[in-house]
Formats: sequence, C-alpha cells, structure tokens
Amino acid sequence: MNGQMMQQPLLISSLLVHAERHHAEQQIVTRRVEGDIHRCSFRDLAVRSRRMAKAMQALGVTPGQRVGTLAWNTYRHMELYYAVSGTGAVLHTLNPRLHPDQVVYIADHAEDQVLCFDLTFLPLVEAVASRVATIKHFVLMTDRAHMPAASKIPNLLCYEDLLEAQDDRFVWPQFDENSASSLCYTSGTTGNPKGVLYSHRSTMLHTFAAALPDSLNCSSRDVILPVVPMFHVNAWGLPYVACMVGAKMVFPGAGLDGKSLYELFEGEKVTVSAGVPTVWQGLLGYTEANGLKFSTMRRTVIGGSACPPAMMKTFQETYGVHVLHAWGMTEMSPLGTVCTLKPVHDALDAAGQRAIQAKQGRAVFGVDMKIVDAAGHELPWDGKATGELLVRGPWIVNQYFKAEGGDPLIPDADGRGWFPTGDVSMIDPDGFMQITDRSKDVIKSGGEWIGSIDLENIAMAHPKVAMAACIAAFHPKWDERPLLVVMKKPGTDLTRDELLAFYEGKIAKWWMPDDVVFVDAIPLGATGKMQKNKLRDAFKSHKLPTA
Ligand code: AMP
Repeated sequence: MNGQMMQQPLLISSLLVHAERHHAEQQIVTRRVEGDIHRCSFRDLAVRSRRMAKAMQALGVTPGQRVGTLAWNTYRHMELYYAVSGTGAVLHTLNPRLHPDQVVYIADHAEDQVLCFDLTFLPLVEAVASRVATIKHFVLMTDRAHMPAASKIPNLLCYEDLLEAQDDRFVWPQFDENSASSLCYTSGTTGNPKGVLYSHRSTMLHTFAAALPDSLNCSSRDVILPVVPMFHVNAWGLPYVACMVGAKMVFPGAGLDGKSLYELFEGEKVTVSAGVPTVWQGLLGYTEANGLKFSTMRRTVIGGSACPPAMMKTFQETYGVHVLHAWGMTEMSPLGTVCTLKPVHDALDAAGQRAIQAKQGRAVFGVDMKIVDAAGHELPWDGKATGELLVRGPWIVNQYFKAEGGDPLIPDADGRGWFPTGDVSMIDPDGFMQITDRSKDVIKSGGEWIGSIDLENIAMAHPKVAMAACIAAFHPKWDERPLLVVMKKPGTDLTRDELLAFYEGKIAKWWMPDDVVFVDAIPLGATGKMQKNKLRDAFKSHKLPTA
C-alpha cells in the first residue's frame, strides 16, 4: 500500500522560493572582485536568479546541458547556483587554481556550453578560450563599466547586460528530482580528474543533513562566511543551507588573506565560517600578529584535511571559537562526518574534549560507514582496528561522469554497493571515526602502518612550525620510514634534534620520524591541501640517517 502524501520533487529552486518568501530581507554581502563591498537581499537573489535563468535559456542552454563557472564566492556565483540548476541545466564549477591544461580537459570532458567567469580569471580564460571545444558563450561576471575595452575572446558577453535584457517573469520548472543539478571534478592527484554529478535530490537531502544541529548547525540567526570555495564541492553546501534556514551570507570574493577575511568577519558580524586548515593559518597569523580577537564568531567548520589539534586549541582557548571538525569528499557532496561532542563528553576537561575533536567525527544521518581489512572483512568499531573506510548513502557517488574509471563501488552481500573512500581510519565504540591516513600516504614500516596525520599534528603543535608533512622515505631494512618535511614559522630557528625531542613521550618509539628536512614551502594543491605526492617525488632519493 502506498502512502497518500503529495508527490513533490525535491528541487533546488524550492530553496530559493522559500528564501524569497520567508527571508526576503535577509542580506547577502560580497567583497566584490571589482573592489567594493556589495549588499543585496534574498529577494534580489531570487529576482536576479529568475532573470539569469531566462538569460541562460536565451543563450540556448537546455536541460541537462552544462554551464561552467570559474568564479570566487560571490552573490553572482550564488545566483548561477540557482539560475542554472533551477532550469534543469547543470552547473559545472571549475577550479581556477588548476593548470590551464586541466581546465581545458575538464571543460571539454564536461562539454560545457557556456562559461561564466570573474574578472580575475580573464587572463586564464583568454589563454584557454581557443582551445576549448564546446563552449559557445563566454560571460564575464561583471557590469558594463568593468568590461575590458578589448579582449582576445570574440563576442565576450557581460553578465549584467544579460540580466538587464530579461525580466523576472519566470516560474521554476518542475521535473524529476533525480535530474542532474551540478558537476564537480575531483582534484585527483593521479590520472585525470573525474566528474561527480550531483542531482537535485542528492543536493536537497545533503542540505537537510548539513543544516542539522549536530551537523553544521545553521539557523536564521547565523551569519555564514564560507571561505571554502564555491568551486570546491559547492562550498560544502552552504549556499543551499543559507536559503533553507534564512541565514545571512557573507562572501569574501578574492580576498582570502588574513586581513581581508578578518575585516569581513568583524564588519559583518559573522557567526559561522568554514574552510580547510591552511586558510585558517593565514587568518590566525594575522590576528596573532595584530593582537586581535573575534567578537561575533562562535564556530568554524574545519575539514578537507585533518585539523591539527594545536589549531583547535588556539581557536577555542585564545579566541573562543568552537571548532567543528568535519570530513567528507567531492564524491560525498561532501559531508560524511562531523565531530560534535555528545553529552557524555561534557565531563571531560578541555584537553580530553580536544582529543575527541581531533577525530573526524560521527556520521551525519544518511551516511552509512564501515571499515574493512585488506581482504574486505568488516573490522570492529573498537577505536583500535584500522582499515579502509567505505561509505554509502543518498548523496554519495554511484558512478563517475561518463562512467569514467568503471564501476567504483564494492558490492555487498545485500546487493548494494559501498564507495571506497581511499581513507584509512578507525572507529571508536561511540561511532567517532578517525582518519589515520589517505591510503596513498600510508607509511608502511616493516609491514606495520604508521599514521602520518598523527605525526604531522605533533609537529604542528611546536611553536616554531608553520606547516609539516610526513611522508614515507625508503629504508633498506624497514621498506619505509617516516620523514618529516617542515616549513618553519618566519624568523624562527629550529633544528632537527629540537623537533625530534618534541616527539619524546608523545608516540611509540618506533613511530619516531627518522629524519627532518626543512623547506621554504610545502606545495599545496588546488583545494589547499598539502601535495604529499610532490614531496615524495622530491625526496625519493633522500638518504635517511638510519638507513
Ligand atoms: P576532496 O574530494 O578533494 O574534498 O578530498 C577528499 C579527501 O580529503 C578525503 O578522502 C580525505 O582524504 C581528505 N579529508 C577531508 N576532510 C578531512 C579531515 N577532516 N581529516 C582528514 N582528511 C580529510
């Protein structure tokens, strides 16, 4: 017997309709690429998104076709989130930090029809425009006054002109909730990036889950500033969450340095933010150097790579900003786990609570997870057994775009597949998952795993260390041993022995790094993560003193 409730597809446009009706006056503030601070309301967002939807249709974009963006976090990018997906077309957010060859590969692979981009990326787009195969229209996301006098791109269109040409008499179409809504390519370090094609249904369910109190915990009282880019897994879903709950949105545009971010946090009374650890280093460096505090910020979501406990301590004890450690992947829309403490943890002291917070957290409802050994047998949740983490759920990839790479899933006896995350982790009896490594980054010493994240976290707690990566170096007896690659804080002196002495008593003796090398910079990838593969290449002939 079927239930007798209305059949209403879960569509992204419904978020915008809701925001316009219930939170019309709520603000969206943007530090614009043009240099000024721009303010608009959710009503403006809704009106302009409808006009942009018509503009896209006037350019010939039909349902299912891809519209690319190369853009910062701004109100115009948010308009495109709704305008493009709302018509049934697919918003393809490209990462502008990628090499131009990769941008061409991805745009061609996605068969983008239109490319909308910020002024900042005009040189990049001019360099690739003649090489991309399918893009028919290039749209510069600015007004007439900021359009270049001449451009190498023929028929360059102006975003605000496109809007001007349309009225907002437009009703969002209703269609199957399983229709594709947006596309994001993985930042894969090996091989070509693969596309993850989200649907309206997966995005909506993810939005419900992300907003929950034990998840990102957002409400209409919040002022959200996503530092995580809108080109990286939809800014972790926050542009959708903001419309669902009616939270004020603050966009940093291209201003991601500590000073610009701090001014925006304070000026706009930001309560929640989100970003990868490397971004917060810049911000904390700025506040520390200038003796500043946050007056409104209550919490920040940190994920994308492991949040060093030392950073958590600084945020919480020096600034009174609670850290929500979160884990996810492009393939997971991205949310998998969030580390929100349970009532039993109230009794712990600050250090005890931080030890829990260093874990990546508990699965949000909708995400099912398990760990398995090399033979695929499920391992216990005892906080000790370590294995590969598998996940499944309604916002987790089933197949990559154009079936790239074949079927990624591992079949289960119940006929449903599991997605192998490539992360190595353990899960404690309370369901808190902790990542010890990316499987590619694991250090295997005499057949036993050494967790590089643990070793990095200890180095990061040293006052003279700005960034640390731990990689496997060749050892004739043990195969691999840990090598620490360290970037010192500016103006500090730190020796190998001083740093190694800092590990004494903090780890098992056999985990002690065999050597330390100091570098001027650790290479970061397009989403701000340390590129350990590059470090492994750079140090592949490093001779360990223990060898
Ligand atoms: P991406 O798809 O580029 O967002 O990368 C996803 C990968 O980032 C995951 O599979 C993890 O290896 C890593 N990652 C994300 N969040 C965390 C976290 N909180 N701690 C450790 N690694 C993380």
